[in-house]
Amino acid sequence: MLDNELKCHVDLCFCSNCREEWHRWLHDHYSSIDALNQKWGTQIWSEEYQDFNDVVLPQATPFVHNSALQNDYRIFTADSATSFVELMIQVIMLACDKPITHNTALGFNLKNVELFNQLDIIGFDTYAESRLIGGFTLNLDLWRNLNLKKEVMLLETSTSHVGYLERYVEPHPIGYLTMEIFLSYVAGLKLFEYWPFKGNATGVEQPHSAVITASGDHDLGYDEVETGSALAEKIHKQNRETTFIKSNVAIVYSDTAKRFYNIETGGKRSYRDLFTEYYAEILKYSSSLEVIPENTDFFKFKVILIPFLRYVSSEMLTKIQKFVDQGGTIILGPMTGDRSENLTWHKNNGLGELGEWLGIKNVNQFYVEAARTECGFSIDGNDFNFKNLLTIFDSDNNEIKNQSKIKNLKNRSIVLKAKKGQGCVYYIGGLLDEDSKQPFWKINLAPDLIKNDVNQDIIKQKGSTTIIYRRENDKEIHLYFANLGQINDSVILNANRVPLDVKLKNNKLSLMPYEVKELVFLR
Ligand SMILES: [Zn+2]
Repeated sequence: MLDNELKCHVDLCFCSNCREEWHRWLHDHYSSIDALNQKWGTQIWSEEYQDFNDVVLPQATPFVHNSALQNDYRIFTADSATSFVELMIQVIMLACDKPITHNTALGFNLKNVELFNQLDIIGFDTYAESRLIGGFTLNLDLWRNLNLKKEVMLLETSTSHVGYLERYVEPHPIGYLTMEIFLSYVAGLKLFEYWPFKGNATGVEQPHSAVITASGDHDLGYDEVETGSALAEKIHKQNRETTFIKSNVAIVYSDTAKRFYNIETGGKRSYRDLFTEYYAEILKYSSSLEVIPENTDFFKFKVILIPFLRYVSSEMLTKIQKFVDQGGTIILGPMTGDRSENLTWHKNNGLGELGEWLGIKNVNQFYVEAARTECGFSIDGNDFNFKNLLTIFDSDNNEIKNQSKIKNLKNRSIVLKAKKGQGCVYYIGGLLDEDSKQPFWKINLAPDLIKNDVNQDIIKQKGSTTIIYRRENDKEIHLYFANLGQINDSVILNANRVPLDVKLKNNKLSLMPYEVKELVFLR
C-alpha cells in the first residue's frame, strides 16, 4: 500500500515548491496567459494577469479568491497527488513485484479514476456512521464500479466507533458491523480490514475502537468480528458459484463535482451530504444501484441519474443524448449543468449546451429555505415545495406546463420532462423539501425505477430502507437483504415466488434494524 490516505488531512499546500509547480501546471494547461485570463474571466476587479508567474495561490485573503483560480488550484493539487503516486510506483516496481494499492476515501481531494488506473487493486477506507442511511453502501457501490477490471478491498474501518483526541463518537448499534461485512462480501470485496487491530494507548487515536483494547481485552465490536468471519466464509463459498447481478439503475458520481462544492458552498451543504441523501432516496424504490464514475458506459443501464454535476462537458452531453435517443431515461439535476468547466456561470443560456439541447431558456437561479420562503410549484395538478439552490426556467418542449404558483414567477417551470428519440429526459431544478420529497418521487420518478428494477421478477414491494443485492447461476437466484435503517422494514415477494427452505407468512420478509437475510430461489 502506498503512503496512507493521500489528501486526507492536508489538502492545499502553499510551499515554495508547490508555487513553482503551480505556475508550470498553468503554463501546460493554458499555453498563453491570455487564454487563462479568458477562461477564468479575470476582466473583473483588476484580476487580469500579465504572466503565469504572477498568478497567486489561493491563500488567506480579505474576501474570496476567483472561483476559477480556486478550482484550478484544487485540480492542480489532485494532479500532484497522481504524479506522486506514479513516481512511487516506478520506484517500488524496481524493488518488488507485489500488487500495489492505496487507501482512498470519499472525503479526499483526488482524481480517483486516474489514480487507480495506475494501481493494481482498488483500496478504500470508510468510517460511515449508522445514522446516515446508505453512508456505507455508497462506498461499496462506488468503489466496485471505479474500475471493473480490478479487485476491491476495504482497507480500514472500525469495529465500533472512530475517535481521536479532539473527537469522541458513539459506538455502532448492534448488528451494524455484521451488516457491513455481509454486504461487502456479497458485493465481491476481497478483503474487509479493521483499523486498528489492537487499540492505541499512546498517540492521538486512543478513543478509537479496535478488535482488542490497548489493555488486551475484547473491544465492543469483538463478537461481531467473530460472527462476521463465519459469515464471510459462507459467502465466499457461495460467491465462487454465483455471479453478482448489477442494477439497471445508475447514479453518476464525480470527483470534479465534489471539488466544485468545496469552493461554491453557498455556506451550506457538501457534495457528499447531498449525494448520500439523494442515493438513499433512490434506494426507496430500487433494490440496489450502481454508483458510476463519469467515464462509465451508459448503455449497461436503463435509468441514469445525474444530480449535482455542475459541469456537463460536451463529451458527457453527447453520451447523455445517445443514451436517451436509444430509449434510456435520464434524470438530471438538481444543480446539473449550471456551471462551466472553470466554475464560472454560462453566458449563453443559463445551462450552456445542455440548456440548448433541452430547449430551456430564461434561466434564473436563487436560494430558498423552504421553511421560511414559499416556493411551491404545481406539477400535473400536485403541489410540491422546493428548496436550496433553485434553477427555474421556460421551455416550449416541456410536457409539464404552467408550474409556478407564485405571483411574480407566473408560468415559470422548475421541472422539465421531454421525450427525445426513443427515450425520456427529466430536469429537476431544485431539492424537494421534506414534506414534498416522497410524494414527488412516488409520482414522477419512482415508476421508472420500479419498472426497471433488477429484482422485479421476485419483489412486489420493496421496503424503504432495505437494500437487496442479487447473485445467480444457471440454477439459482440468491437475494441478499440488509436493512440499512434504524427502524423495522419489510419486503413483499410476488405471490408466485417461493424461497427454498424458508416459509414466509403472506410473502412478507421482515427485517429488524441492520438485520441481514438471504433467500434462495430456483430460476
Ligand atoms: Zn507544497
